[in-house]
Amino acid sequence: MALVVQKYGGTSVANIDKIANVANKVIRTKEAGNDVVVVLSAMAGETDRLIGLAQKAADNPDGREYDSLISTGEQITVSLLAIMLNAMGCPAKSLLGFQVRILTDKAFKKARILTVETTAIQNELGKGTVVVVAGFQGVDPDNNITTLGRGGSDTSAVALAAALKADVCDIYTDVDGVYTTDPNICSKARRLDRITYDEMLEMARAGAKVLQPRSVELAKKYNVPVYVKSSFTDEGGTLVTKEEREMEKEVVSGVTYDRDQAKITVVHVPDRPGVAARLFTPLSENNIVVDMIIQNASIQGHTDMTFTVSRKDIRDAKRIISDVLKDVGAEKLEVDDNVAKVSIIGVGMISHSGVAAKMFATLAREGINIMMISTSEIKVSCVVEAKYAELAVTVLHDAFGLERES
Ligand code: ADP
Ligand code: ASP
Ligand code: MG
Repeated sequence: MALVVQKYGGTSVANIDKIANVANKVIRTKEAGNDVVVVLSAMAGETDRLIGLAQKAADNPDGREYDSLISTGEQITVSLLAIMLNAMGCPAKSLLGFQVRILTDKAFKKARILTVETTAIQNELGKGTVVVVAGFQGVDPDNNITTLGRGGSDTSAVALAAALKADVCDIYTDVDGVYTTDPNICSKARRLDRITYDEMLEMARAGAKVLQPRSVELAKKYNVPVYVKSSFTDEGGTLVTKEEREMEKEVVSGVTYDRDQAKITVVHVPDRPGVAARLFTPLSENNIVVDMIIQNASIQGHTDMTFTVSRKDIRDAKRIISDVLKDVGAEKLEVDDNVAKVSIIGVGMISHSGVAAKMFATLAREGINIMMISTSEIKVSCVVEAKYAELAVTVLHDAFGLERES
């Protein structure tokens, strides 16, 4: 008998028929002799709808009320599944984040999980009950409802699996595993049987939304085996796990793209010590993650500073930077959200030279201009014009020999 955590994403619970499909899968797992904890997302499109309502209600919605609103989609799906399971003769109970007590910090919209209490869940499992937990949400030390950032149900599931010391965390979604690139934009994408935590983490951070980055961080930290599987077929699957010696080290194992990017340029900044700190400290204090940063060569004591943020942070970042613009003596702010980030990832890059150069040459051959570049040991990312994202992914996938053998 094992303890299994199963997470089902938005498309897997998009309507009553799909929730019935989930109920059947849960019952099958339970009947095979396992304890089952299910984590659900909201129905596909529901969180977007709720966000749209909040934005209609106010230009800059209050964070506490915003999270209270956008977390409601998950309350609907967990109670519906519990209703169905009970009606099918399988005892089940739904729990919201505060009822489990998934304690988070106070950062509304992007809270981080601090601790997960397991007593309530374990009591229910002890009675033979299937526990259905609302993903994406927690509660802060002041009892406010918080949410974990888009795609946060993955993180709820892995955090629960870690806290409960589950044997496995299955992430059920609309594709049958992790591919060399998004199979929905590149028909030659190849499914990987296994991928290391480190590579998965880089792919997730670079925009492969199949797993939220924070979920992979937690899986790595607590050594939780994560299987990415399809809700709709029993075929395939990808195991995300620690590196094993026999694992093949491909130079490049994946290509990702991220359209959720915006480029902000602070124009004509005085080139003197302390300016970067004055610009970036208030951004980090407001939990805005700055990804790439470039500073141009200095001309007559002035420079342009360009950086990228997530699109949802544009408004806050503009407000924050505008406040310090005069202080630091910069001229103005320019925002370009017509960009995408394209990345290649692979642990094998550490021991190979020329990988970045090959990436640049491949993009150049297609006439794709590179606006920004960043590199790490196992990743190279380029910011390009948004309209080239898919073409860039396809030609890079091809250039690094990742295509499916057929
Ligand atoms: P869910 O609603 O189940 O959480 P998501 O939409 O968040 O599902 O994530 C699944 C999607 O991730 C897939 O439909 C696919 O388009 C996208 N994706 C991007 N990169 C990859 C990749 N490398 N492998 C698999 N899926 C990917
Ligand atoms: N419902 C949330 C979202 O759409 C969380 C999730 O799906 O993981 O982002
Ligand atoms: Mg998701």
